[in-house]
Amino acid sequence: MNAATPISQAEAGGAIVNGLSVDVEDWFQVGAFEGVIERDDWGSLTDRVDRNVRQILDMFDAAEAKATFFALGWVAQRHGGLMREIVLRGHELASHGWDHGRVFRMDRETFAADISRARQVLEDAAGVRVTGYRAPSFSIDQRTPWAFEVLAEQGYAYSSSVAPVAHDHYGWAEAPRFAFRPLAGSPLLEIPVTTAMFAGKRLAAGGGGFFRVIPYGFSRWAIRQVNCREGRPAIFYFHPWEIDPGQPRVAGAPLRSRLRHYTNLDRMAGKLRQLVREFAWGRMDLLAASEAARIDGEAAA
Ligand SMILES: [Zn+2]
Repeated sequence: MNAATPISQAEAGGAIVNGLSVDVEDWFQVGAFEGVIERDDWGSLTDRVDRNVRQILDMFDAAEAKATFFALGWVAQRHGGLMREIVLRGHELASHGWDHGRVFRMDRETFAADISRARQVLEDAAGVRVTGYRAPSFSIDQRTPWAFEVLAEQGYAYSSSVAPVAHDHYGWAEAPRFAFRPLAGSPLLEIPVTTAMFAGKRLAAGGGGFFRVIPYGFSRWAIRQVNCREGRPAIFYFHPWEIDPGQPRVAGAPLRSRLRHYTNLDRMAGKLRQLVREFAWGRMDLLAASEAARIDGEAAA
């Protein structure tokens, strides 16, 4: 290549489209508050999810970014218009289960009923087929070998339900870091949330509290590592309540949970705008299709 030849996006590592995802749940549905807020009280609490998701849709439009919205069935039942709006704006609507029950606390039958009910409500609300699933709190791990079988039986194309890292209340540290087929003889794909390697260790780098609390530079470094050094797409996620400093405060929650939940809410929207501008982002279903093609190509080679 001579000096005048422009470096293509692919050569610069910029052509990789990363997976952008939003876990659509309200401020009172997070795992950190489950010991303080009763599920029966959810219906009487101030609803913030609609306005927050619409703000996110505007942010994505401004950056021309597409994403996948993993919505709770409980939310879809009450916000059918919002589900339709997500689809109308060109994003993928996928499932986050019914009411944020963690998979490792269910048995096979309960899980099958949970995801079936959620999917029905999502599909009825938005008039599209749902083929993607994300477990609440990344709760598919070594304790739930049946979970992938249930997802395959119900015809899901992919799951993004594993955090391949050690964490205090979730994580499957031994799982592959990139997309894999968890079941022999099934096309079902698992696409774990992103980790970055540093000094031989896996660091959580795909969003959540880490993104809000740690300076933006870390996320930029981590996604560049994954894109440019490893040549793979990154998977990033966040929640609508994370851009909402005006949400009601939960008294009585453990200090650690409150610190994790409320830190830097006022800075989150600005950080996200930078992130969606700085990298290329797309829907998880499209990413799943290209990852499946890559895995098949490697198997055939
Ligand atoms: Zn969630």
